[in-house]
Amino acid sequence: MPEKGNISINAKNIMPVIKKWLYSDRDIFVRELVSNCCDAVSKMKRLVSIGEAENTEEYRVDVLINRQEGTLTFRDNGLGMTADEVKKYIAQVAFSGAEDFLSKYKNEKDDAGGIIGHFGLGFYSAFMVAKKVVIDTLSYQKDAQAARWISEDGMEYEMEPSDRATRGTTITLYLNDEDKEFLEMWKLTEVLEKYCGFMPVPVFVQDVTPVEKKEPAEGEEKPEEEDKPAEPRQINDVSPLWLKKPSEVTDEEYKAFYHKVFHDYDEPLFWIHLNAEYPFNLKGILYFPRLKNEFTANEGVIKLYNNQVFVADNIKEVIPEFLMLLKGAIDCPDLPLNVSRSFLQNDGYVKKMAAYITRKVADRLVSEFNNHREDYQKYWDDIHPFVKYGCIKDEKFYDRVKNALLFKTTAGDYLTLEEYRNANCEEGKDPVVYYTSDEKRQAQMIEMYTAQNKGVVVLNTLIDANFISFLEFTERESKLTFKRVDAAAEDLTETGETSEDDRKTLETLFREASGDDNLEVQLKAFKSDEMISMITVDEQNRRFTEMSRQWGRDLNLPEKRTLVLNDRHPIVQWLKHAPEGDTRKAVCAQVVDLAEMARQPLVAERMVEFLRRSNQLLSLVVR
Ligand code: ADP
Ligand code: MG
Repeated sequence: MPEKGNISINAKNIMPVIKKWLYSDRDIFVRELVSNCCDAVSKMKRLVSIGEAENTEEYRVDVLINRQEGTLTFRDNGLGMTADEVKKYIAQVAFSGAEDFLSKYKNEKDDAGGIIGHFGLGFYSAFMVAKKVVIDTLSYQKDAQAARWISEDGMEYEMEPSDRATRGTTITLYLNDEDKEFLEMWKLTEVLEKYCGFMPVPVFVQDVTPVEKKEPAEGEEKPEEEDKPAEPRQINDVSPLWLKKPSEVTDEEYKAFYHKVFHDYDEPLFWIHLNAEYPFNLKGILYFPRLKNEFTANEGVIKLYNNQVFVADNIKEVIPEFLMLLKGAIDCPDLPLNVSRSFLQNDGYVKKMAAYITRKVADRLVSEFNNHREDYQKYWDDIHPFVKYGCIKDEKFYDRVKNALLFKTTAGDYLTLEEYRNANCEEGKDPVVYYTSDEKRQAQMIEMYTAQNKGVVVLNTLIDANFISFLEFTERESKLTFKRVDAAAEDLTETGETSEDDRKTLETLFREASGDDNLEVQLKAFKSDEMISMITVDEQNRRFTEMSRQWGRDLNLPEKRTLVLNDRHPIVQWLKHAPEGDTRKAVCAQVVDLAEMARQPLVAERMVEFLRRSNQLLSLVVR
């Protein structure tokens, strides 16, 4: 006569709730059941090590598919349970946190996977997918009797003797019709690889569905493999690379691990092996991937493990957001991962750990810079958006890496800010870094600076606009500013006397010729006498416009433009006294257009007009 029992009063309230919540995350039952098997093996190993038990077998976990029976079986040769233990561990202890569970987490649908583990409900996740669950178990203890536990709803159970003859536990799930997909080898393997890929005991998967003996039809070849049962296949690596000592791992192993785990066939740039026992027990490997372009940069993935059991990807409470551009695996055995996200957000331990990871990443960058600068410069183009983003997001990170920040010049050099300043900025003057956002379009302006031996740095990615504002603000004490090559003329002109009357005259002329009544005209002595003029655009004004565009709001502000004329140029001299008429007007318009073209292409209509006028002016030569 089987013994009947009720799991607990509370279970009745809980089961429907769990079922509903878990609907979206059903595959975690695989993680829970396999990790219970691994736990049982670990406990057995411990008993053996202290001489409490003996073992002669290879420890293993098997996951078996039987499509004929519609069952999925999880089998281990761990320590097993006695009938009393089954009653105690499976039926009662499980729900000790039940009251809490219901009251606290009613609304946290997203966290179902975590909640289940936290409240010791791991085993019960089986009922998400099964209409019946059977446990067959034989304890390691002397003279133990094998026990069977059967339950159809997770609320009521029956117990009877089992015929299991060897030590360990077998858990058989009779799957719901709508969950039969877990009997597909590819589906099951996918889930196993995701959650159990690094569990510490060998986990095998095998299809044990009895093969129908098909008699080959007349004249048909007998198919070779048809009735051979598939061999068990191991799905996990029991000693993941992150647990090894960094000094014992070769570069090839790091790369192979990267390819395998992240399915990225590019080489990683470099990596950081985290290996801490104090103040946190934390191990892991973070890779800097080669970024294909800025817009796909967010494709990093950081896998979080808890004692080799996969928990989730990209838990932003543990891993600082900007590190999400990296790829890696982090194993935190002590982390209270099985609790809700709101808990993680407010947990001091989690915060300290995130800070620790950030610090390690920063330190690694600095050591690359200090010890392998040439390599580091090669990586810079790939890693700089990430580093800059990190600086903006986390000032502590900035403080650590600031001396390893590089600026690439148009000449192809990579300079630190200090190196740039030493080479280009005069002492006693507020330091200005000249930059280009588009080397091709701004080639003419760049040329004017390089002709004066002024280095121009390339800042042409999306993050740069924010980054330079960040630097100017953070380094405000040193009065550092960044100016685009078309933002100012100071370093291209000499501070000498020019006549205000002449300036006024020319301003009137140019406003008339260009039709731009707001055009401001300056008269300056250029250091080089080749150029007639240039147009500068106020840096702050331009940034503001760009920023608002980035936020999706085009304010359509007019650019604050200044036409700077070269007082040393014969054309400018001529214009001061040129006779009124079409020629003077055409020359003025031509000068403005040329200056404009040095910084950006003309719009179509203006281009047509420019070409027409150029032809006309050329004809003057032969008249
Ligand atoms: P947890 O693993 O957090 O303790 P579970 O609900 O997953 O909670 O499991 C409840 C208990 O049932 C375990 O603590 C263990 O004592 C027992 N148990 C579950 N699966 C096995 C197994 N395969 N072998 C031995 N004991 C098991
Ligand atoms: Mg468990």
